[in-house]
Amino acid sequence: MKVTLRKVTKTPLDFNVKSNEIIFKGYLQYHAGKLILLHADLKGELDVECSQCGEELKLPLDETVEFFISDGIYEDENNIELDVVESFDSTANIDELLASELELIRSDYHSCKDCEILND
Ligand SMILES: [Zn+2]
Repeated sequence: MKVTLRKVTKTPLDFNVKSNEIIFKGYLQYHAGKLILLHADLKGELDVECSQCGEELKLPLDETVEFFISDGIYEDENNIELDVVESFDSTANIDELLASELELIRSDYHSCKDCEILND
């Protein structure tokens, strides 16, 4: 699902995309300047690898994701540390944003049940 950033207003624009067993449901809303707020719930089960033994495991996801999408280069003039993703084609590709969000979670540290017991 691709959204043209210029069309996003103060009225939340709902989206709902799926990737395998993951549901990414939320809205885009115009914030200020070049910034669009993305707010979404991430739910489902993600296949991840145990960081210790490499065993595949299912990680239950139930979290709220919130960041900004900048229409073009984002300059942090006020030095407020915002979580910003820059878009260079004036669109937000929700599927890609979901994919990179899942990639981030995958790169976290995960431990399967066996390794958890060893760590205790
Ligand atoms: Zn393990």
